[in-house]
Amino acid sequence: MGGLCTGAGGRSLSVMWKTVSEDCNLACDYCYYSTCGGKPGKINRIDSALLDTFMKDYMRHTDGVAAFAWQGGEPLLAGLDFFEEAVALQAKYAPPRTVISNALQTNGTLLTDKWAAFLKKYRFLVGVSLDGPKEIHDARRVDARGQGSHDRVMNGIGHLRRHGVDFNILTVIHKGNVSRAAELIAFYKREKFDHVQFIPCMDFRSQETNRPGVYEITPEEYGVFLCEAFDLWYNGGAPELSVRFFDNMLSVYMNGQAELCIHRSACPDMLVLEQNGDAFPCDFFIGEEWKLGNVGVHSLDDILASPVYDEFKALKPRLPEPCRSCQWKALCHGGCPRNRNWSDNRKTSEPDYFCASYQMIYAHADERMKSLAGGLRLRQFESNVRRYLKGKVPGRNDPCACGSGRKFKQCCLDDVQSASLV
Ligand code: SF4
Ligand code: SF4
Repeated sequence: MGGLCTGAGGRSLSVMWKTVSEDCNLACDYCYYSTCGGKPGKINRIDSALLDTFMKDYMRHTDGVAAFAWQGGEPLLAGLDFFEEAVALQAKYAPPRTVISNALQTNGTLLTDKWAAFLKKYRFLVGVSLDGPKEIHDARRVDARGQGSHDRVMNGIGHLRRHGVDFNILTVIHKGNVSRAAELIAFYKREKFDHVQFIPCMDFRSQETNRPGVYEITPEEYGVFLCEAFDLWYNGGAPELSVRFFDNMLSVYMNGQAELCIHRSACPDMLVLEQNGDAFPCDFFIGEEWKLGNVGVHSLDDILASPVYDEFKALKPRLPEPCRSCQWKALCHGGCPRNRNWSDNRKTSEPDYFCASYQMIYAHADERMKSLAGGLRLRQFESNVRRYLKGKVPGRNDPCACGSGRKFKQCCLDDVQSASLV
């Protein structure tokens, strides 16, 4: 979901586009989005004229960076020619020296040598959905005939590896794997997957945006899962695997901030586009009342100026009472507004459904995160002082040499003094 560009009014904006609407060649039993049962029929891909219109408009607003995330259904069903057209239009309309980033979320089963060569050429970052070892994955990620897809996904990953494509693994955490953190981590290590992220499994009611998200796992189950996964990730103070949730926590302990929107203070400026051009502020807020317009009909300026957008952005900072005084607020920022049960006028809400999970993992990991982050910051500090400051330690009010962006006195000064580095 990441990426930046400067949108209308100086706002940064990334774009997630549902390339083929809900069309998908799998029929995962927990999927709340696709209803075609793994038999997509004629593919509803983004229309060429719409793609051209939007690219032109969007690129006019960029300021050095343009970020796209292509999702489905299964986006590879759009065909290679669609993506060739998309990257050609990006290049055609991007102002000179624009950095264009493309991310693609796929079930991995349709990846071929040709696809991998294309993805490498244009430096796509690929997210592959894989729920763990074969037995766990195949129980739920099945095709229209009910057959598991694990072998096909692993075959697709083989193509990515042979072409050196950057990819990460996205694992949905559901009833079938929430109590099996150790097996998942062992699987990632065995398969040499070095970047993974977890997504709790939502159920179909999630599309009713006037109700809070409903999940298959309980907050306690997810909390225990995160704690067990953390112990293995920590690896005696020398993590070998990048797990997005823990990496985000570590960033905060290193005086930076999380990159996951859920644990930042504000929802990012993002447009989620349906295949037909309908625009929404977030993937979790796709519903008529949150529609911002249609990029085939309305200009980006008009879409970003929609009062619906402002209403959406106001939700996350409207923290429930327990969050305001929570000791973990800097790590959590109240989670995701989609997971809060709101009053009718949306002025107040209960905490995020996963509040108990977050409290469990934050308390469980706190001491070890402090120690890990402290060591990393000092190493970074020393190395930067040597490389960039000719060995001279910054003044109290100068930016800290660890790179956090904070003043030295508000960042590493105490640690540096106790380690006798000054
Ligand atoms: S509503 Fe939730 S998922 Fe959407 S941008 Fe905000 S924090 Fe992220
Ligand atoms: S842990 Fe719970 S109470 Fe604390 S900020 Fe997060 S959601 Fe709010």
